[in-house]
Amino acid sequence: MANSAIVGINWGDEGKGRMVDLLTEDYDVVVRFQGGGNAGHTVINGLGKFALHLLPSGIFRAGVVNILGNGVAVDPENLWTEMQDVMSKGVELTPDNFKISDRASLLLPWHRDMDELEEMRLADKKYGSTKQGIAPFYSDKYQKKTILAGELFYPEELKAHLADLMEWKNLTLTKVYGAKPYTMEMLEEWLEKYCERIKPYICDTGMFLKEAQANGKNILFEAQLGSLRDLDYGIYPYTTSSNATAAYAPIGSGLPSVKITDVIGVVKAYSTCVGEGPFVCEMFGDEAEKLRKNGFEYGAKTGRPRRVGPIDIVATRYGVEVQAATAIALTKLDVLSYMDKIPVCTHYLLNGEQTDRFPFPSALKNAKPVIEYFDGWKCDISGARIWQDLPKAAQEYVIYIEKQIGCPIKYVSVGPERDSIIIR
Ligand code: GDP
Repeated sequence: MANSAIVGINWGDEGKGRMVDLLTEDYDVVVRFQGGGNAGHTVINGLGKFALHLLPSGIFRAGVVNILGNGVAVDPENLWTEMQDVMSKGVELTPDNFKISDRASLLLPWHRDMDELEEMRLADKKYGSTKQGIAPFYSDKYQKKTILAGELFYPEELKAHLADLMEWKNLTLTKVYGAKPYTMEMLEEWLEKYCERIKPYICDTGMFLKEAQANGKNILFEAQLGSLRDLDYGIYPYTTSSNATAAYAPIGSGLPSVKITDVIGVVKAYSTCVGEGPFVCEMFGDEAEKLRKNGFEYGAKTGRPRRVGPIDIVATRYGVEVQAATAIALTKLDVLSYMDKIPVCTHYLLNGEQTDRFPFPSALKNAKPVIEYFDGWKCDISGARIWQDLPKAAQEYVIYIEKQIGCPIKYVSVGPERDSIIIR
């Protein structure tokens, strides 16, 4: 029996989706345990190309049960839209292969408004939110001011609960932001149009997981974003509003007793970062544009160009520690094939001293990257399927990273397709 987590080591967008899609072959259940529809996992397989935001990346494998755990921000509107999209492309989604925890909280329609209104108020001090309502949702969840998915099965109590929440939220919307108030008719329409559609998939997933565990099933825990966006361990306040670390998987999945045996940390062969916040290794100008184009680094949800840089050893080592990773999947190595010399951020320079420790968030803006260059390989490696297929320079690059971050690189990904992978 294996209980494995697939998590991001950096700022997100490392290629977790493609790794989950690949590895689910060996798992019976895939659980998303945190986050919402604010990031995207791109998966390319025999059925086509998909940008998943909320659905677990195991939905393409027959026989795999996919779960949205209680730690996830379940947005009925976005979820139903995404479900319709994948179903229209031939993916089967039934209450047997897709389940939503009855203990997951629902992202309410005003959470998106609150996100937008607050980013507008912040103007040039904005956090770079994707405006999917995730921060307002999690604040309300912890204030106990949202509803649980399972409440949809108690319509009378639900309406009374929603009316109370609406009265409370309308105060902020109208008096703080000068926005329009919500009405019960609007909420009833939302219930009818979206919540009723996802209701058949809502159940006691904690019970299901307990049984799966008792029956020795293999469970994969899927995270969104990465260590540096973790609410507690990341670059606060430029983090997400949930814990993207493997340690949160037992709580957010609905299986608090589980011991995670393997943590597969996904690291990109270079760095990318979406939105605002300190990004020490950032590259600019033509060099950045070339890397962005070669890696096709544009947000899956927003289409925003991602900020890019060389692999950041300091941040990656920290990310590995935070995730307690037991193995690494290094992705997008093929993207670097065009480079004559490959830059690597080996250290930071902080207050005139070289450091290999990841600094406190407030100190990051003063840190400067120390860059070293490695030989490039200058040939197409996307067809490599075994370690020996990689040119020497590429092998050396992988081995150097492995040594620096202190965790074995078990997978090297050389293309977005399911089989473009080297297993060491
Ligand atoms: P996630 O959120 O961590 O799942 O990452 P994203 O899906 O946002 O970003 C990863 C992107 O890189 C997707 O478009 C993938 O199809 C693509 N990708 C993943 N692995 C590789 C790889 O090894 N090489 C190339 N060229 N693209 C990859």
